[in-house]
Amino acid sequence: MMAPVCYSKAMRMAARFLLPFLMAISPPAFAWGPQGHEIVARIAADNLTPSAHLRISQLLGGDAPALMVLDSNWADEIRADRPDTAAWHFVNIEIGAKGYDPRRDCPRDDCVVAQIGRDAAALRDPRADHAARLDALRFLIHFVGDLHQPLHAADRHDKGGNSFAVFEGRRRSNLHRVWDQDVVEALGPDAMSVAGGIERGISPQDKGHIAAGSPTDWANESFQVAAHEIYARLPSNGPVRLPRDYTDREKAVVRQQLARAGLRLAAMLNTIFR
Ligand SMILES: [Zn+2]
Repeated sequence: MMAPVCYSKAMRMAARFLLPFLMAISPPAFAWGPQGHEIVARIAADNLTPSAHLRISQLLGGDAPALMVLDSNWADEIRADRPDTAAWHFVNIEIGAKGYDPRRDCPRDDCVVAQIGRDAAALRDPRADHAARLDALRFLIHFVGDLHQPLHAADRHDKGGNSFAVFEGRRRSNLHRVWDQDVVEALGPDAMSVAGGIERGISPQDKGHIAAGSPTDWANESFQVAAHEIYARLPSNGPVRLPRDYTDREKAVVRQQLARAGLRLAAMLNTIFR
């Protein structure tokens, strides 16, 4: 999401080699901020077919689950260098609208819904070179996650909650940041164990139902979650003092969105890398 850069390029290179050791010790509390994307990538990696696992490992140059997690925030890390990618992280569907309208909400095909389609197409394109396919994979891993952060698919004239000031106790924040980071961090400090806990709560039968649909369906669903679960409970656009137990109350919704993102990303990758 709109998170601060957590690895420099040099650190990423080092982390690629040190990853097995890094994962063995307790990971730092990276904030759908980094932590949300790591959870989504891990759930997706755990649900790949053997064929997709192999092809993704070949493309990333190592073991798929570890590198999918490591690369899940690459799209945020390159934002400063690639300002042309900024609009690919979200779609602003205005509260009060019936749902996603590509002409109104995705002008010039410059939004997360259209970009997910482009990245999937690039991965399917046998003529695409290695660098283009690698970029497409790292973008896809990130953007399917972003689409499931409800405030990346909704807006109430507040930049998706970015200009909606909130107070958590004495700390001033904004609603978007709360949903990028705080509600995810409330699930636990270790992204991998949070991912495992979410997965254990879903039956194999339910996984298939959850993974169904298209990016347009998922945008509409995220928009509805934002409308009913987030904005409807906060009638004015701030500043608002959030209840002390706000992040606890939202845990079920957050776990649901992370599960949906991970399982749908896996389904897309399994279809692409059949
Ligand atoms: Zn993002």
